[in-house]
Amino acid sequence: MELYELTIHELQEKIRSGEVSASGILDSVFGRIEAVEVNVRAYITLLEEQAREEAAKADQRIKAGDINTLTGIPIALKDIFCTRGIKTTCGSHILHNFVPPYDATVVEKLREAGAVFTGKTNMDEFAMGSSTETSFFGVTRNPWDLDRIPGGSSGGSAAAVAAGECIASLGSDTGGSIRQPAALCGVVGMKPTYGRVSRFGMIAFASSLDQIGPFTKDVEDCAIMMNAIAGYDPRESTSVPTDVPDYRAFVERGIDGWNVGIPKEYFIEGIDAEVAAAVQKAIGVIEKLGGKCLPISLPHTEYCLAVYYIVAPAEASSNLARYDGVKYGFRSENGRDLLEMYKKTRSEGFGAEVKRRIMIGTYALSSGYYDAYYKKASQVRALIKRDFDDAFRQCDVILTPTSPTPAFKIGEKTDDPIKMYLSDIFTISANLAGIPGLSVPCGYTAGGLPIGLQFLAGHFAEGRLIQIAAAYEKNTGGEKRKPSL
Ligand code: GLN
Repeated sequence: MELYELTIHELQEKIRSGEVSASGILDSVFGRIEAVEVNVRAYITLLEEQAREEAAKADQRIKAGDINTLTGIPIALKDIFCTRGIKTTCGSHILHNFVPPYDATVVEKLREAGAVFTGKTNMDEFAMGSSTETSFFGVTRNPWDLDRIPGGSSGGSAAAVAAGECIASLGSDTGGSIRQPAALCGVVGMKPTYGRVSRFGMIAFASSLDQIGPFTKDVEDCAIMMNAIAGYDPRESTSVPTDVPDYRAFVERGIDGWNVGIPKEYFIEGIDAEVAAAVQKAIGVIEKLGGKCLPISLPHTEYCLAVYYIVAPAEASSNLARYDGVKYGFRSENGRDLLEMYKKTRSEGFGAEVKRRIMIGTYALSSGYYDAYYKKASQVRALIKRDFDDAFRQCDVILTPTSPTPAFKIGEKTDDPIKMYLSDIFTISANLAGIPGLSVPCGYTAGGLPIGLQFLAGHFAEGRLIQIAAAYEKNTGGEKRKPSL
């Protein structure tokens, strides 16, 4: 086993016992990057020099006995998180030269916990997409099959963990952008409750839906990352001042006697047969572990996609109004006056999908259409949330597939936005309701592509997700493979 293949908790033990150093771990990870990054292309920016300095400092702290939860652990950051003095592009031409003057709260927190940052990972432009194909910096490839997409929008963060190009990473999830790529790359991904993790310093897409969360190799690592990033932040008005439990304590607890809801609306026509079979098998495992799987209904599920594609573009059209070429980012040289400079900056700076979202959102918010679209969507969103409130009166967690299909081919859905949007049909509801969701690997297709299983829980019940996913992970009975890169 190479060091880059290990989990955070395995490396922590080796660091504590003195068997390995932070610099040794980093050498292994950068050796791996050297070997596979030309094919995977998970990163927009690599931070090798800075990482080596951080690892050397970590080794000094380790020697002094000052070991924190992530001391010396190489971690990658989606390029949506502001990093002081380090280019932060959000996958867009319009921010290709943006160097933030401050760190996002999650970056500060990971640094305080001792993390070493390997680089900034590739993503769909402004996190709009499900395949990482809308990135200005080119597509990331799925480590399990280089002809396929890694999912999106946090495709680089998912692929980097799957390929061993970091030990864990951070992504963001507005409609599925952590859970869907986690499923397609065979890793664990969690979207916490809205308000659980501070969004300060994360470039905004749709502010009422955005959440930050980890990609990890196993559920215990997910708990360790959550311990590091969760919590109230006075700089972020929607972060919630409630206590953060020790998520790691949930890993060994088991689920005997739990009620696990199986929503009939998530087992629909059009779902890939191998995905459906893998999820059915997982239901069997949950029952063997003492979970009672019961049929439930989330009756407004059919409206989720439509509601999301009004609310998210509406918020995006407002959030992205700030990119005008004046104070930072790309500015077109071709404008003869101020108005033309604005127009040319935005038409040259944004890609096609971002423009589509801005146009949809501006339309949905315009006078005469606001009531018919934005207001109506907000009302239906409340019904979707109520479906979950009702469901969690009957069950402890909900189980669904994460994505209706395994990873698809590069280029397969780029011409058809609706097909692309359907990739998130099972993940979007959690963002609309503000509840946490976690994707854990649940087997492979005959062709060797990973499949993901999603668990959903009530607000601030991330611990339950860790509890059931850890129990499942330990008892799948299936083999655990690694991509043969
Ligand atoms: N794929 C969805 C979209 O394109 C969700 C993206 C995300 O979660 N950031 O909007």
